[in-house]
Amino acid sequence: MTGPETSGSACQICGDHGLEMQPEFAALPRVTSDCKPWPAGGSLAVCRSCGGIQKLPDRRWQDEIRRIYGAYEIYHLSGGAEQIVFTTASGEASPRSQVLVDFVTATVKPPARGRLIDIGCGNGAALAGFSKALPQWELYGNELSDRGLAALQKIPNFAALYATDDVGTIPGRYDLVSMIHSLEHMPAPLSTLNAATGLLEKGGHLFIEVPDIETSPFDLLVADHLCHFSLDTLRYLASRAGLTAAVATTSVLGKEITYLGHSGHQPLPKPGAPSGFRIAGATIAWLRTVIERARALSDRGQFGIFGTSISGMWLYGALEGRIDFFVDEDKSRIGGRYKGKPIFAPQDAPADSTVYVPLTPIVSEKVVARLEGLGARFVPPPAWPRNVS
Ligand SMILES: [Zn+2]
Repeated sequence: MTGPETSGSACQICGDHGLEMQPEFAALPRVTSDCKPWPAGGSLAVCRSCGGIQKLPDRRWQDEIRRIYGAYEIYHLSGGAEQIVFTTASGEASPRSQVLVDFVTATVKPPARGRLIDIGCGNGAALAGFSKALPQWELYGNELSDRGLAALQKIPNFAALYATDDVGTIPGRYDLVSMIHSLEHMPAPLSTLNAATGLLEKGGHLFIEVPDIETSPFDLLVADHLCHFSLDTLRYLASRAGLTAAVATTSVLGKEITYLGHSGHQPLPKPGAPSGFRIAGATIAWLRTVIERARALSDRGQFGIFGTSISGMWLYGALEGRIDFFVDEDKSRIGGRYKGKPIFAPQDAPADSTVYVPLTPIVSEKVVARLEGLGARFVPPPAWPRNVS
């Protein structure tokens, strides 16, 4: 009998060798981080030493991310408008980068003047928020290309964009370095984090926001996300990059990890491996049941998918487009079409049709309860297995 297959690569989190492949992952269709269906065939591993859940940055993955970023469109379904979130604290709706800007400025208590760089700044959603909060600061951005430059130059105190995939080549020192949904994309997260730490001015802060794999099962399917962090594995990686955590929490934005640190070595014990294996195994198994339930429901008459972001577009791809419509609550998307399928508001979904709500179980149950009594029947995915994390 042969044991589980291992990879010769080193773990992105702890550096040890002994990544155990999760072969069931290869059969799952995937999705890109700009919400486009992406075919099955990925490879996923869990570290036997620290439990870090990760893809392998091999030639095949590098080739895939080149193709994904070559065609990248941020928020393409809402005409460029950023996704709205409901904050945990207030229950009010606001763009998610604004929630993070508010958190950073309230926690750091920044001086009137300073320099900030956003690593992986996209078209400047976070920089625009920082610009309002820190009007006298100089703002810088970093991206793989200069495609977003025209949008960035409209931000009042924007200074310069460094278009490079090597954070180590960025000049200058900064009082605040932010990495908002960028670290999980990085092909070499430790060296990128080391370089970002090296950009800090004395007394400066590094802010990191990434998905939380413990509460964000669909994140595993995002083809261009290399690392799938838990609070423990992110804290451990950051400590290896010479950072001390001021705040590390999952309570700022749902399903995400928020980390604010500063220079200073803080050795941490290595996270335990069992929870990584438990989370990866349960997540893969649950995602398979999500597809199975969708297939069964779609065979019984008119069928729609709730949501046109990561999980909705993933499921659309998994069903090979065999759906009749989408349902969304985002006003910028309602009335539009995707791949020829109409996007309805919940109350406009056809009577007696079935609308599947492929969101994490806690969220989908709330959505289903809220929409009960409308013409369509809203159905949640299977329950999340107990005792996973
Ligand atoms: Zn490891």
